[in-house]
Formats: sequence, C-alpha cells, structure tokens
Amino acid sequence: MAKQDDVFKKLVAHAKEYGFIFQSSEIYDGLSAVYDYGQKGVELKNNIKEYWWKSMVYMHENIVGIDSAIFMHPKTWKASGHVDAFNDPLIDNKDSKKRYRADVLIEEQREKFQVKINKEVAKAAKRFGESFDKEEFLKTNQRVLANQAKIDEITNRYVTAMENDDLNAIKQIILDYEIADPVSGSRNWTDVRQFNLMFDTRLGSVTDDAAKIYLRPETAQGIFVNYLNVQKTGRMKLPFGIAQIGKAFRNEIVARQFIFRMREFEQMEMQFFVQPGTEMKWFEYWKNKRIKWHNALGLGEEKYRFHDHDKVAHYANAATDIEFEFPFGFKELEGIHSRTDFDLKQHQEHSNKKLQYFDNEKNESYTPYVVETSIGLDRMFLTVLSNAYTEEEIIKENGSKEQRLVLKIPIFLAPIKLAIFPLIKKDGLPEKAHEIYNKLKYDFNCEYEEKDTIGRRYRRQDAIGTPFCITIDHQSLEDNMVTLRERDTMKQERVAIDDLHKIVSQRIDMKILLKELED
Ligand code: ATP
Repeated sequence: MAKQDDVFKKLVAHAKEYGFIFQSSEIYDGLSAVYDYGQKGVELKNNIKEYWWKSMVYMHENIVGIDSAIFMHPKTWKASGHVDAFNDPLIDNKDSKKRYRADVLIEEQREKFQVKINKEVAKAAKRFGESFDKEEFLKTNQRVLANQAKIDEITNRYVTAMENDDLNAIKQIILDYEIADPVSGSRNWTDVRQFNLMFDTRLGSVTDDAAKIYLRPETAQGIFVNYLNVQKTGRMKLPFGIAQIGKAFRNEIVARQFIFRMREFEQMEMQFFVQPGTEMKWFEYWKNKRIKWHNALGLGEEKYRFHDHDKVAHYANAATDIEFEFPFGFKELEGIHSRTDFDLKQHQEHSNKKLQYFDNEKNESYTPYVVETSIGLDRMFLTVLSNAYTEEEIIKENGSKEQRLVLKIPIFLAPIKLAIFPLIKKDGLPEKAHEIYNKLKYDFNCEYEEKDTIGRRYRRQDAIGTPFCITIDHQSLEDNMVTLRERDTMKQERVAIDDLHKIVSQRIDMKILLKELED
C-alpha cells in the first residue's frame, strides 16, 4: 500500500508540475476538495468530453444533448427526493477527530475479506496449476467460506440497517467488526448521523427561507424537467435519450482523494427513456455499451469490474457501478441505474404537469421508464491520468541507462497532439517550424518549443503525453523532410512535411475510436 501511496503522491505532484491540475485558490492555501484544471488539464478534459459526447449524441440517432442551468426551482429537489434523502451517514473518530462516511468504512471492511479470498484463490491456482478448479475451490475451501460468510453477514446487516434507516445498527456493524480509523487505528467512534450533501444559497435579495435554492447535486434532474420539451420539440419516439455534461455540487464529508471526490465536479449523464417493461433489456444494453466505451481506450480490461448494488437507491430497480482500479484500489467510476418512472412521476406530482408519452402504436399515454448512465468527468480524468503515469528505464544509444517518465495517455485524448521543434533557434529553422505549425494548427493542438536540447524537449513532451514530436533541421530547408518521433516506441523516422497531416491524423482521429464502439 505504501508503494501505491507513493505513486499516487507522485501523480498529484506531476499533475501540478505539468499544468494539469492545481489546487483551487492555492495562493490562499487552497479550498478543500476543489480543484482547477490547468492548460494541459483542460485539453485532456475537453477530449474526454468529446469522446463521450460523440459516442452518445453523434453515434445514436435517438439521443440528443442539452445544457440545462445549474440553478433549478427548489421544488425540483423536493420532488427528486434530494431534500429528504440525499444524505450520507457520517461518523467521527473521537481520538483522531477525523470524519468518515460510515457506509464507506463498512464497504472497505468488506473489501478486506474479498482481498483475503482473492489471495487464497491466487495461492491455490499457483499450487494446482492447470488442474485448478476455481468454482470447486470457492465452494469447498474452509478459509474462503469463512471469509465469504463474513461478507454475506456484513452485506445483509448493512442492507437491513439502511432499509430501516437504523443508524444505530450501522454503528453496531462498525463496532462488531472492530473497524478502526484508517489513519489513527482508533476504534473510539461517535454515533452515526445523517448529513445532507446539498449546498444551498439564496435567489435574489430576499433572505427568507422561501428563496432558498440549491446548487444541483446531479445533472440528471435538469434532463427530467426538460423531458417533455425535448420529446415534443425534437419529435422523439421511445426509446430515446437525452445527454448532458455539466457541473454538480456536493458537500462531501470525506474528500481526501484528489479529484476522485470533489465538492464541485462535472458529470456526463444520459437518461434513456423507454417503454415500461423493457427497462431490464436496456439496462443490459447500456452496461455493455458503456464497458465497451471504456475498453476501447485500451487501458486494460482487467482494470474494470462491475459492482452490482445490494441496496438500490429509492428510485431504482437495478443498479450497477463500473469500478476502475485506481492507485488506491477498485472504486466507482460510473453508475448505471434503472430508475423506473420514479423521477418523471415525482415531477408530475409536484408540478401538476403531465409528463407522459403518447404511444401511437398502442394508442395510449404512459410515463416512460428511464435507464441512466452517469459518469464523473473528473473521475474519468483521474482514470486516464493514473493509468498513463509510467516510469520506465530506457537504454540510450551509448548503452547507458536513463529513467524516462512518460504519460501514456490514449493518443486520441492527449492534450497536445504534435510538438514542433526547430533544432536550433536560428538559420531560418524557427520560421520553417512556424510555417508547419500554422499549417497544422487548424486540425491538431500543436505546441511550438525551441528551448533546450532536443532530448530535453522530448522528455518534457513525454511528461505531458504528446504522441508525436517533429524536429526541423538544416536538411529540412532543402528537402522538406522532418524527423518524426513517436512517444511510446521513441522511434524516429524522416517524413515529408506534406505527409505530416496525413500521418498524424491517421493515428489520432477520434473516428478510429468511435468506430470500435459500433455493434
Ligand atoms: P460515491 O458512492 O463515490 O459517492 P455516488 O454513487 O454518490 O458516488 P452518483 O450519484 O451515482 O455517485 O454519481 C455518478 C458519478 O458521478 C459517479 O460514478 C462518479 O463518477 C461521479 N461523482 C459523484 N460524486 C462525485 C464527487 N464528489 N467528485 C467527483 N465525482 C463524483
């Protein structure tokens, strides 16, 4: 774990050093769990957005996008259940004075038992080799069974406690399993309390409670309240989807993992409206689609897993998370939820407006069911960044070894696609380099650099994940050829300036990635 912590610390430092992510208001010592994206970060973020948006909106005839306001009528949040139920159970450690989410402590304890099971399986697989029967082993090994029994017991107790809103029972799980404060090791806990995560503010100059509004804690409700607007004006037929990318705000209790859990963050959500009774089919459909979207990036299929919910939220009849293996373990990256007709019905009731669909074929009106896919843009950013961070040893031409730090960002998402270097700062080379820059700037985000040796410039571009660098030398002025260097292989080749556009676009065009998503 210590090693993983080190890697994570290095990653955070790297993200700052190379202009990806800065602490918000850093000159005032920062604002907790709020971050700014720097000059490289914003590019990576925009590319992730583009990949998601195109895969949802451009690639589906029946999905459209919107951009709804952050502020919404306060009744929205009453209807959605957020005013009454958007709570996290929190618990304080009396010794360390640290605050935790009780559900997270319990989940981590469960994960510890799971890790023990996985270790037993790995050990046995090694011992028995090819003849190893995993199914049989899981059913018969005593240590595995004992750990599985503990997992089942925790799960059952937790689900029951949550269903009954029984905070004492939640605390009892923590006491019975002797769960300790991960920082101090102390088991001296307060009672569990509920804490609402919404930020509120006031609209206009009135100070009474009637003007209290909330910063939206999710983008989904902006889609639900616009369901009819979009359906009617877009003449949409079921099934159809509405996608949105936008900011959301949550007053998170525990916010210690960099951009994994922020108080201001961005979501990419898509609500898919379907005929009642078909929602499970669409739930499976979107599970497949979304994992395909992740896998197409090539970060490694073993880094993802589904985690089905034992206790679904009040609005859902099925829910799963796509988890990614971050440097601090497998954690939720995206949620896929079958939300039934809960939201539309609630808004219908609270607004007194009909939010239904007239089905021409059936000649009847009904409230559609909804399947949602919801991914945190910032968590996706962290997924890409943490996976990309690579320290490798390279052997130079003279046989000496050197450390290379490279961000192996999927090239479609790289902030800078092409770095353009004149070999030296004179003899007409900068002019030639600018000429190339000006030709390519319309299609690729290029960076011009003339400082330091070429080797150093390569290192800097490796550190921000630039897939291609070109160097313009004296020869280039005569034969119109440049040296093209590739990030991952570090291979260099001479190519014609006129071919540059073609060579680079053949590799980085997002179309290649999007085509992989087709059924
Ligand atoms: P968690 O259990 O981690 O708090 P959640 O289940 O409350 O997450 P959802 O409400 O399903 O999350 O939100 C959908 C997605 O939004 C999550 O999968 C995650 O990627 C992202 N997300 C949620 N909260 C945050 C946050 N505080 N900071 C960054 N991303 C977030």
